[in-house]
Amino acid sequence: MTVPQTSAPYRFPVAARYAGMESSPLKDIFALAAREDVVSFAGGIPDPELFDLQAVAACYEWVLSQQGHRALQYGVSEGEVELREQAARRLSRDLPTDASQIRVTSGSQEGLFVLAQALLEPGDVVLVESPTYLAAVQAFAVHGARMIGVDTDDDGVVPEALEEAILTHRPRMAYLIPTFQNPTGRTMPVARREAVADVLLRTGVPLVEDDPYGALSFTGGTWAPIASLPGMGERTLLLNSMSKLMSPGVRIGWIRAEGPVLDTLAVAKAAISMQSSVVDQLTVARYLETADLDAHVATVSGVYRERRDAMASAIAPVLPPGAHVTHPDGGMFLWAALGEGYDAQRILADAVEAGVAYLPGWSFFADHPDHSTMRLSFVTHSPEVIEDAVGRLGEVIAQHPQR
Ligand code: PMP
Repeated sequence: MTVPQTSAPYRFPVAARYAGMESSPLKDIFALAAREDVVSFAGGIPDPELFDLQAVAACYEWVLSQQGHRALQYGVSEGEVELREQAARRLSRDLPTDASQIRVTSGSQEGLFVLAQALLEPGDVVLVESPTYLAAVQAFAVHGARMIGVDTDDDGVVPEALEEAILTHRPRMAYLIPTFQNPTGRTMPVARREAVADVLLRTGVPLVEDDPYGALSFTGGTWAPIASLPGMGERTLLLNSMSKLMSPGVRIGWIRAEGPVLDTLAVAKAAISMQSSVVDQLTVARYLETADLDAHVATVSGVYRERRDAMASAIAPVLPPGAHVTHPDGGMFLWAALGEGYDAQRILADAVEAGVAYLPGWSFFADHPDHSTMRLSFVTHSPEVIEDAVGRLGEVIAQHPQR
Protein backbone atom coordinates (compact mmCIF):
# COMPACT_ATOMS: atom_id res chain seq x y z
CA MET A 1 0.00 0.00 0.00
CA THR A 2 1.49 3.31 -1.07
CA VAL A 3 0.16 6.41 0.61
CA PRO A 4 1.11 9.50 -1.44
CA GLN A 5 3.48 11.80 0.49
CA THR A 6 2.32 15.38 0.08
CA SER A 7 2.32 18.26 2.53
CA ALA A 8 -1.13 19.43 1.46
CA PRO A 9 -4.15 17.73 3.06
CA TYR A 10 -6.24 15.62 0.70
CA ARG A 11 -8.90 17.63 -1.06
CA PHE A 12 -11.92 15.53 -1.91
CA PRO A 13 -13.05 16.13 -5.51
CA VAL A 14 -16.45 17.88 -5.57
CA ALA A 15 -19.00 18.42 -8.33
CA ALA A 16 -18.59 21.53 -10.44
CA ARG A 17 -22.00 22.77 -9.29
CA TYR A 18 -20.68 23.08 -5.71
CA ALA A 19 -17.15 24.20 -6.56
CA GLY A 20 -16.29 27.56 -5.05
CA MET A 21 -19.29 27.39 -2.71
CA GLU A 22 -17.30 26.41 0.40
CA SER A 23 -18.40 29.64 1.96
CA SER A 24 -21.87 30.94 1.16
CA PRO A 25 -23.41 34.25 2.18
CA LEU A 26 -25.77 32.27 4.43
CA LYS A 27 -22.95 30.54 6.29
CA ASP A 28 -21.27 33.90 6.77
CA ILE A 29 -24.47 35.37 8.23
CA PHE A 30 -24.68 32.70 10.87
CA ALA A 31 -21.02 33.20 11.79
CA LEU A 32 -21.68 36.93 12.26
CA ALA A 33 -24.90 36.32 14.16
CA ALA A 34 -23.06 34.07 16.59
CA ARG A 35 -20.55 36.76 17.67
CA GLU A 36 -21.56 37.92 21.11
CA ASP A 37 -20.27 41.46 20.72
CA VAL A 38 -22.34 42.08 17.59
CA VAL A 39 -26.05 42.93 17.41
CA SER A 40 -26.99 41.02 14.29
CA PHE A 41 -29.84 41.98 12.01
CA ALA A 42 -28.41 39.60 9.43
CA GLY A 43 -30.27 36.31 9.87
CA GLY A 44 -34.02 35.76 9.78
CA ILE A 45 -33.85 34.15 13.20
CA PRO A 46 -37.12 33.98 15.17
CA ASP A 47 -36.83 35.16 18.78
CA PRO A 48 -36.47 31.91 20.77
CA GLU A 49 -38.09 33.58 23.80
CA LEU A 50 -41.32 33.55 21.80
CA PHE A 51 -41.36 29.81 21.12
CA ASP A 52 -44.45 28.09 22.54
CA LEU A 53 -42.13 25.74 24.39
CA GLN A 54 -44.49 24.22 26.96
CA ALA A 55 -47.21 23.40 24.45
CA VAL A 56 -44.70 21.91 22.00
CA ALA A 57 -43.13 19.84 24.79
CA ALA A 58 -46.57 18.54 25.74
CA CYS A 59 -47.18 17.52 22.12
CA TYR A 60 -43.88 15.60 21.93
CA GLU A 61 -44.74 13.94 25.23
CA TRP A 62 -48.19 12.97 23.95
CA VAL A 63 -46.89 11.61 20.63
CA LEU A 64 -44.17 9.52 22.26
CA SER A 65 -46.42 8.15 24.99
CA GLN A 66 -49.54 7.57 22.86
CA GLN A 67 -48.11 6.79 19.41
CA GLY A 68 -44.51 5.98 20.24
CA HIS A 69 -44.10 2.85 18.16
CA ARG A 70 -45.46 4.54 15.08
CA ALA A 71 -43.60 7.79 15.73
CA LEU A 72 -40.23 6.05 15.85
CA GLN A 73 -40.89 3.97 12.71
CA TYR A 74 -40.42 4.80 9.01
CA GLY A 75 -43.38 6.65 7.52
CA VAL A 76 -44.63 7.50 4.04
CA SER A 77 -42.98 9.91 1.58
CA GLU A 78 -46.18 11.94 1.14
CA GLY A 79 -46.20 12.75 4.84
CA GLU A 80 -48.25 11.59 7.81
CA VAL A 81 -51.97 11.93 7.17
CA GLU A 82 -52.72 13.85 10.40
CA LEU A 83 -50.29 16.56 9.39
CA ARG A 84 -51.56 16.69 5.82
CA GLU A 85 -55.11 17.06 7.16
CA GLN A 86 -54.08 19.94 9.42
CA ALA A 87 -52.21 21.63 6.56
CA ALA A 88 -55.21 21.22 4.27
CA ARG A 89 -57.51 22.64 6.95
CA ARG A 90 -55.40 25.78 7.29
CA LEU A 91 -54.98 26.24 3.53
CA SER A 92 -58.70 25.74 2.91
CA ARG A 93 -59.42 29.10 4.54
CA ASP A 94 -58.34 30.61 1.22
CA LEU A 95 -57.97 27.72 -1.17
CA PRO A 96 -60.00 24.50 -1.00
CA THR A 97 -57.41 21.82 -0.30
CA ASP A 98 -57.63 18.11 0.41
CA ALA A 99 -55.04 16.24 2.50
CA SER A 100 -54.16 14.25 -0.65
CA GLN A 101 -52.87 17.50 -2.22
CA ILE A 102 -50.19 18.03 0.46
CA ARG A 103 -46.61 16.77 0.33
CA VAL A 104 -44.73 17.21 3.60
CA THR A 105 -41.15 18.47 3.43
CA SER A 106 -38.39 19.12 5.95
CA GLY A 107 -38.96 22.87 5.90
CA SER A 108 -39.63 24.91 2.77
CA GLN A 109 -35.96 24.75 1.91
CA GLU A 110 -36.27 21.05 1.23
CA GLY A 111 -39.52 21.79 -0.58
CA LEU A 112 -37.62 24.06 -2.95
CA PHE A 113 -34.97 21.38 -3.48
CA VAL A 114 -37.57 18.64 -4.01
CA LEU A 115 -39.49 20.63 -6.59
CA ALA A 116 -36.32 21.76 -8.32
CA GLN A 117 -35.24 18.14 -8.62
CA ALA A 118 -38.68 17.10 -9.84
CA LEU A 119 -39.21 19.92 -12.36
CA LEU A 120 -35.96 21.42 -13.61
CA GLU A 121 -33.68 20.35 -16.45
CA PRO A 122 -30.15 21.78 -16.66
CA GLY A 123 -30.33 25.04 -18.61
CA ASP A 124 -33.96 25.76 -17.72
CA VAL A 125 -34.74 29.37 -16.91
CA VAL A 126 -36.47 30.29 -13.67
CA LEU A 127 -37.83 33.82 -13.40
CA VAL A 128 -37.37 35.32 -9.95
CA GLU A 129 -38.08 38.65 -8.34
CA SER A 130 -35.22 41.09 -8.28
CA PRO A 131 -34.29 40.79 -5.43
CA THR A 132 -35.38 37.34 -4.21
CA TYR A 133 -34.63 34.72 -1.53
CA LEU A 134 -31.03 33.67 -2.13
CA ALA A 135 -31.28 30.10 -0.84
CA ALA A 136 -34.06 29.41 -3.36
CA VAL A 137 -31.70 30.61 -6.08
CA GLN A 138 -29.08 28.18 -4.73
CA ALA A 139 -31.54 25.26 -4.69
CA PHE A 140 -32.45 25.95 -8.32
CA ALA A 141 -28.86 26.66 -9.38
CA VAL A 142 -27.48 23.34 -8.18
CA HIS A 143 -29.99 21.68 -10.51
CA GLY A 144 -28.50 23.59 -13.41
CA ALA A 145 -31.20 26.25 -13.72
CA ARG A 146 -30.46 29.76 -14.91
CA MET A 147 -32.16 32.49 -12.87
CA ILE A 148 -33.35 35.68 -14.53
CA GLY A 149 -34.34 38.56 -12.26
CA VAL A 150 -37.56 40.44 -13.07
CA ASP A 151 -37.99 44.09 -12.09
CA THR A 152 -40.02 44.85 -9.00
CA ASP A 153 -41.50 48.01 -7.52
CA ASP A 154 -43.13 48.71 -4.14
CA ASP A 155 -45.99 46.35 -5.09
CA GLY A 156 -43.73 43.43 -6.01
CA VAL A 157 -42.97 42.00 -9.41
CA VAL A 158 -43.97 44.27 -12.33
CA PRO A 159 -46.45 42.41 -14.60
CA GLU A 160 -45.24 44.04 -17.82
CA ALA A 161 -41.63 43.14 -16.97
CA LEU A 162 -42.75 39.60 -16.13
CA GLU A 163 -44.48 39.21 -19.48
CA GLU A 164 -41.51 40.58 -21.37
CA ALA A 165 -39.13 38.23 -19.53
CA ILE A 166 -41.42 35.29 -20.32
CA LEU A 167 -41.52 36.13 -24.01
CA THR A 168 -37.74 36.61 -24.11
CA HIS A 169 -36.55 33.70 -21.99
CA ARG A 170 -39.30 31.02 -22.22
CA PRO A 171 -38.92 30.04 -18.54
CA ARG A 172 -39.80 26.68 -17.04
CA MET A 173 -41.41 28.44 -14.07
CA ALA A 174 -41.66 31.65 -12.08
CA TYR A 175 -40.73 31.77 -8.40
CA LEU A 176 -42.44 34.45 -6.32
CA ILE A 177 -42.79 35.37 -2.65
CA PRO A 178 -45.89 37.59 -2.77
CA THR A 179 -46.42 38.25 0.96
CA PHE A 180 -43.93 39.97 3.32
CA GLN A 181 -41.21 39.03 0.89
CA ASN A 182 -37.70 37.97 1.81
CA PRO A 183 -35.62 40.12 1.50
CA THR A 184 -37.70 43.31 1.03
CA GLY A 185 -40.69 42.77 3.34
CA ARG A 186 -42.94 43.95 0.51
CA THR A 187 -46.40 42.55 -0.24
CA MET A 188 -48.19 42.35 -3.56
CA PRO A 189 -51.63 43.99 -3.38
CA VAL A 190 -54.61 42.02 -4.71
CA ALA A 191 -54.76 43.91 -8.03
CA ARG A 192 -51.07 43.13 -8.65
CA ARG A 193 -51.63 39.45 -7.82
CA GLU A 194 -54.44 39.36 -10.35
CA ALA A 195 -52.31 41.05 -13.00
CA VAL A 196 -49.46 38.59 -12.39
CA ALA A 197 -51.85 35.60 -12.50
CA ASP A 198 -53.26 36.95 -15.75
CA VAL A 199 -49.77 37.05 -17.32
CA LEU A 200 -48.95 33.54 -16.10
CA LEU A 201 -52.27 32.11 -17.33
CA ARG A 202 -51.96 33.76 -20.75
CA THR A 203 -48.38 32.60 -21.25
CA GLY A 204 -48.80 29.16 -19.68
CA VAL A 205 -45.93 29.54 -17.19
CA PRO A 206 -46.41 27.66 -13.89
CA LEU A 207 -45.81 29.33 -10.54
CA VAL A 208 -43.86 28.35 -7.45
CA GLU A 209 -45.37 30.48 -4.68
CA ASP A 210 -43.31 30.56 -1.50
CA ASP A 211 -45.31 31.70 1.53
CA PRO A 212 -43.50 31.20 4.83
CA TYR A 213 -44.35 34.68 6.21
CA GLY A 214 -47.96 35.34 5.16
CA ALA A 215 -49.46 34.67 8.61
CA LEU A 216 -47.09 37.14 10.33
CA SER A 217 -49.31 40.16 9.64
CA PHE A 218 -48.97 43.37 11.67
CA THR A 219 -52.20 44.95 10.46
CA GLY A 220 -54.63 42.10 11.02
CA GLY A 221 -54.97 41.93 7.25
CA THR A 222 -54.75 38.51 5.60
CA TRP A 223 -53.43 37.70 2.16
CA ALA A 224 -54.85 34.90 0.06
CA PRO A 225 -52.15 33.24 -2.05
CA ILE A 226 -51.99 33.74 -5.82
CA ALA A 227 -52.74 30.01 -5.98
CA SER A 228 -56.30 30.82 -4.83
CA LEU A 229 -57.05 33.03 -7.85
CA PRO A 230 -59.22 31.45 -10.57
CA GLY A 231 -57.27 28.97 -12.68
CA MET A 232 -54.09 29.21 -10.59
CA GLY A 233 -54.59 26.30 -8.15
CA GLU A 234 -53.53 23.63 -10.63
CA ARG A 235 -50.67 25.75 -12.00
CA THR A 236 -49.07 26.63 -8.68
CA LEU A 237 -46.86 24.77 -6.25
CA LEU A 238 -47.56 26.56 -2.97
CA LEU A 239 -45.00 26.23 -0.18
CA ASN A 240 -45.74 26.76 3.51
CA SER A 241 -43.51 26.30 6.51
CA MET A 242 -43.88 26.00 10.26
CA SER A 243 -40.46 27.63 10.72
CA LYS A 244 -41.60 31.20 11.31
CA LEU A 245 -44.90 30.33 12.99
CA MET A 246 -43.93 27.57 15.41
CA SER A 247 -40.27 26.54 15.19
CA PRO A 248 -37.55 26.42 12.55
CA GLY A 249 -35.90 23.60 14.50
CA VAL A 250 -38.68 21.08 13.85
CA ARG A 251 -37.99 21.42 10.09
CA ILE A 252 -41.56 20.91 8.91
CA GLY A 253 -43.18 22.47 5.87
CA TRP A 254 -45.28 21.34 2.95
CA ILE A 255 -46.03 21.81 -0.73
CA ARG A 256 -49.61 22.08 -1.95
CA ALA A 257 -50.13 20.91 -5.52
CA GLU A 258 -52.78 19.39 -7.78
CA GLY A 259 -52.70 16.53 -10.28
CA PRO A 260 -49.98 14.08 -11.33
CA VAL A 261 -47.11 16.33 -10.21
CA LEU A 262 -48.04 15.24 -6.67
CA ASP A 263 -46.74 11.76 -7.51
CA THR A 264 -43.53 13.13 -8.97
CA LEU A 265 -42.97 15.23 -5.85
CA ALA A 266 -43.44 12.14 -3.66
CA VAL A 267 -40.91 10.17 -5.75
CA ALA A 268 -38.37 13.01 -5.56
CA LYS A 269 -38.92 13.36 -1.81
CA ALA A 270 -38.38 9.61 -1.38
CA ALA A 271 -35.15 9.76 -3.38
CA ILE A 272 -33.85 12.65 -1.28
CA SER A 273 -34.84 11.71 2.27
CA MET A 274 -37.48 8.91 2.28
CA GLN A 275 -39.73 11.06 4.45
CA SER A 276 -39.58 13.84 6.97
CA SER A 277 -39.18 12.87 10.62
CA VAL A 278 -42.33 11.04 11.69
CA VAL A 279 -41.94 12.16 15.33
CA ASP A 280 -41.80 15.77 14.26
CA GLN A 281 -44.67 15.46 11.80
CA LEU A 282 -46.96 13.87 14.35
CA THR A 283 -45.96 16.46 16.94
CA VAL A 284 -46.66 19.37 14.61
CA ALA A 285 -49.99 17.76 13.68
CA ARG A 286 -50.86 17.42 17.37
CA TYR A 287 -49.84 21.02 17.96
CA LEU A 288 -52.00 22.27 15.08
CA GLU A 289 -54.89 20.20 16.40
CA THR A 290 -54.71 21.12 20.07
CA ALA A 291 -52.94 24.48 20.37
CA ASP A 292 -54.24 27.80 19.07
CA LEU A 293 -51.64 28.57 16.41
CA ASP A 294 -53.51 31.71 15.32
CA ALA A 295 -53.38 33.12 18.86
CA HIS A 296 -49.69 32.26 19.14
CA VAL A 297 -48.92 33.85 15.78
CA ALA A 298 -50.90 36.95 16.82
CA THR A 299 -48.73 37.27 19.95
CA VAL A 300 -45.52 36.84 17.95
CA SER A 301 -46.68 39.31 15.29
CA GLY A 302 -47.52 41.87 17.97
CA VAL A 303 -43.98 41.69 19.34
CA TYR A 304 -42.48 41.83 15.85
CA ARG A 305 -44.61 44.85 15.00
CA GLU A 306 -43.15 46.79 17.93
CA ARG A 307 -39.68 45.86 16.70
CA ARG A 308 -40.54 46.85 13.14
CA ASP A 309 -41.70 50.21 14.52
CA ALA A 310 -38.47 50.62 16.50
CA MET A 311 -36.32 49.85 13.49
CA ALA A 312 -38.36 51.94 11.06
CA SER A 313 -38.25 55.04 13.24
CA ALA A 314 -34.58 54.57 14.14
CA ILE A 315 -33.40 54.04 10.59
CA ALA A 316 -35.30 56.81 8.77
CA PRO A 317 -33.23 59.69 10.18
CA VAL A 318 -29.84 57.98 9.74
CA LEU A 319 -30.18 57.09 6.07
CA PRO A 320 -28.57 59.39 3.50
CA PRO A 321 -30.77 61.70 1.42
CA GLY A 322 -32.29 59.82 -1.50
CA ALA A 323 -32.13 56.46 0.26
CA HIS A 324 -35.19 54.21 0.09
CA VAL A 325 -36.41 51.95 2.88
CA THR A 326 -39.39 49.59 2.90
CA HIS A 327 -42.08 49.64 5.59
CA PRO A 328 -43.26 46.02 5.84
CA ASP A 329 -46.75 45.20 7.08
CA GLY A 330 -45.56 41.82 8.33
CA GLY A 331 -42.81 39.26 8.21
CA MET A 332 -39.26 39.79 9.41
CA PHE A 333 -37.31 42.07 7.10
CA LEU A 334 -36.75 45.66 6.23
CA TRP A 335 -34.82 46.53 3.08
CA ALA A 336 -32.83 49.70 2.58
CA ALA A 337 -31.25 51.00 -0.60
CA LEU A 338 -28.67 53.63 0.34
CA GLY A 339 -28.43 54.85 -3.22
CA GLU A 340 -25.86 55.46 -5.93
CA GLY A 341 -22.24 55.18 -4.82
CA TYR A 342 -22.75 53.29 -1.55
CA ASP A 343 -21.41 49.77 -1.16
CA ALA A 344 -23.20 47.93 1.64
CA GLN A 345 -20.65 45.11 1.63
CA ARG A 346 -17.79 47.54 2.30
CA ILE A 347 -19.78 49.35 4.99
CA LEU A 348 -20.45 46.01 6.72
CA ALA A 349 -16.85 45.59 7.87
CA ASP A 350 -16.97 48.92 9.74
CA ALA A 351 -20.47 48.18 11.00
CA VAL A 352 -19.29 44.91 12.54
CA GLU A 353 -16.43 46.81 14.20
CA ALA A 354 -19.11 49.10 15.63
CA GLY A 355 -21.01 46.02 16.88
CA VAL A 356 -23.83 45.78 14.36
CA ALA A 357 -24.38 43.45 11.41
CA TYR A 358 -26.84 43.24 8.54
CA LEU A 359 -26.85 41.37 5.27
CA PRO A 360 -25.54 43.16 2.19
CA GLY A 361 -28.30 43.05 -0.40
CA TRP A 362 -26.26 42.13 -3.49
CA SER A 363 -26.51 38.41 -2.71
CA PHE A 364 -30.31 38.51 -3.18
CA PHE A 365 -30.09 39.45 -6.84
CA ALA A 366 -30.00 36.71 -9.48
CA ASP A 367 -28.41 39.26 -11.84
CA HIS A 368 -27.65 43.02 -11.90
CA PRO A 369 -27.16 43.47 -8.12
CA ASP A 370 -27.78 46.80 -6.43
CA HIS A 371 -24.69 47.03 -4.20
CA SER A 372 -26.14 49.84 -2.11
CA THR A 373 -28.82 47.61 -0.58
CA MET A 374 -29.01 45.92 2.81
CA ARG A 375 -31.46 43.55 4.49
CA LEU A 376 -32.15 44.08 8.17
CA SER A 377 -34.13 41.58 10.22
CA PHE A 378 -36.03 43.30 13.02
CA VAL A 379 -37.35 40.22 14.83
CA THR A 380 -34.55 39.00 17.06
CA HIS A 381 -33.82 41.96 19.36
CA SER A 382 -35.77 44.20 21.72
CA PRO A 383 -36.76 47.74 20.61
CA GLU A 384 -34.08 49.26 22.90
CA VAL A 385 -31.31 47.10 21.43
CA ILE A 386 -32.57 47.84 17.90
CA GLU A 387 -32.61 51.63 18.47
CA ASP A 388 -29.12 51.64 19.93
CA ALA A 389 -27.60 49.44 17.22
CA VAL A 390 -29.32 51.27 14.35
CA GLY A 391 -27.94 54.51 15.80
CA ARG A 392 -24.42 53.05 15.61
CA LEU A 393 -25.10 51.82 12.09
CA GLY A 394 -26.11 55.37 11.16
CA GLU A 395 -22.78 56.72 12.40
CA VAL A 396 -20.94 54.15 10.30
CA ILE A 397 -22.99 54.97 7.18
CA ALA A 398 -22.28 58.68 7.74
CA GLN A 399 -18.55 57.92 7.61
CA HIS A 400 -19.00 56.38 4.17
CA PRO A 401 -19.92 59.37 2.08
CA GLN A 402 -21.18 58.85 -1.40
CA ARG A 403 -18.29 58.43 -3.77
N1 PMP B 1 -38.41 30.51 1.60
C1 PMP B 1 -38.20 31.73 2.08
C2 PMP B 1 -38.69 32.90 1.31
C3 PMP B 1 -37.52 31.92 3.29
O1 PMP B 1 -37.29 33.15 3.74
C4 PMP B 1 -37.10 30.77 4.02
C5 PMP B 1 -36.37 30.90 5.35
N2 PMP B 1 -35.52 31.91 5.51
C6 PMP B 1 -37.34 29.52 3.46
C7 PMP B 1 -38.01 29.40 2.26
C8 PMP B 1 -36.86 28.24 4.11
O2 PMP B 1 -37.38 28.09 5.38
P1 PMP B 1 -37.55 26.70 6.12
O3 PMP B 1 -36.75 25.68 5.38
O4 PMP B 1 -37.05 26.93 7.49
O5 PMP B 1 -39.01 26.40 6.06
